[in-house]
Amino acid sequence: MSDLIQRLIRPEIRELAAYHVPDSSGLIKLDAMENPYPLPKDLQQALAAKLQSAAVNRYPDPQGQAVKQALRQQLTLPADYDLLLGNGSDELIQMLMLACVQSGASVLAPEPSFVMYKMVAKWCGLAYHGVDLQTDFSLDMSAMRAAIETHQPALIFLAYPNNPTGNCFAAKDLREILEVSDGFVVIDEAYAPFSAKTCESWLQDYPNLLLMRTLSKFGLAGLRLGYLVGPSAILAELDKVRMPYNINVLTQASVALLLEHTDIFLEQAKQICQQREAMLQTLIAMGLKALPSQANFILLQVGEAAPVWLAKLREQGVLVKCLHGGHPLLAGCLRVTVGTPDENAFLIKQLEALAKS
Ligand SMILES: *Cc1c(COP(=O)(O)O)cnc(C)c1O
Repeated sequence: MSDLIQRLIRPEIRELAAYHVPDSSGLIKLDAMENPYPLPKDLQQALAAKLQSAAVNRYPDPQGQAVKQALRQQLTLPADYDLLLGNGSDELIQMLMLACVQSGASVLAPEPSFVMYKMVAKWCGLAYHGVDLQTDFSLDMSAMRAAIETHQPALIFLAYPNNPTGNCFAAKDLREILEVSDGFVVIDEAYAPFSAKTCESWLQDYPNLLLMRTLSKFGLAGLRLGYLVGPSAILAELDKVRMPYNINVLTQASVALLLEHTDIFLEQAKQICQQREAMLQTLIAMGLKALPSQANFILLQVGEAAPVWLAKLREQGVLVKCLHGGHPLLAGCLRVTVGTPDENAFLIKQLEALAKS
């Protein structure tokens, strides 16, 4: 067996650690930036009724027309711009990279940022270049300029707001990157529902700008739906590496229905933002180093005890994410997702006890 693995599996894959998802059963789940609110009862019923008649014996609509149409209504797209659907934005990242793999092509992203950029680059056999953020988590523009010039990356990924730091990079820095880059610049707006900022209005200005969004953080993580916005001609090329039926029948039917009720999700996002601000003030008042965030999570710099805090929080029934041991700028960091008011209050109580101990 190990001989087969040694001979056949690429060394860079053997070296990887599989993406680890901890068991969360019975725990308050504040580790993965999910929306904590289940669907309201009447919407659950409407969804059940719709799914009852879904044709699960048939392949889905290969283009996901109903989903695209529902999404398009929420956007003002320039002429000749289109949408590409992915099974989560994770799949879009994979499609982008798969389409760009060739000798000399590389991927660049600031670090720390969303880990999938680096991971998928490795899967695809693409060179990956991480450029460290500054200690305040802003872009280090002289390092970015130098790396772009040296590596001429085919793809640059910029999460806006950034995960796991929670901040939005300066708009003028993003524009400069779009201007100096000869490759695609993917602005990943996974946290757009919680941030007042978006680069949507820049689409016309930059043909190399691709905007990536997802319904995951909005409240539909289980449905797995992400979308890329960009010039139709570019998306038509990317579409060639898309699995023909990547968005399943149940997701297509659900999304088409649920997007008629965006008011519900927008209201939840508003509550989450209010909770985030209240939590931030409380945590700071407790003497903790909690960083401002434009997303639905807060980064806490608790110091070397971070792994111990993670374990103790888990014992008390709360699951958060420990980022310690990853990037040096994340030493001593925990990332906590903003949950319901009750969940947040419970977490704060536990953190208070830890801070005193
Ligand atoms: C969570 C997250 C995603 C992944 O979204 P899916 O659509 O669930 O695959 C993408 N980008 C960033 C920055 C994220 O934090």
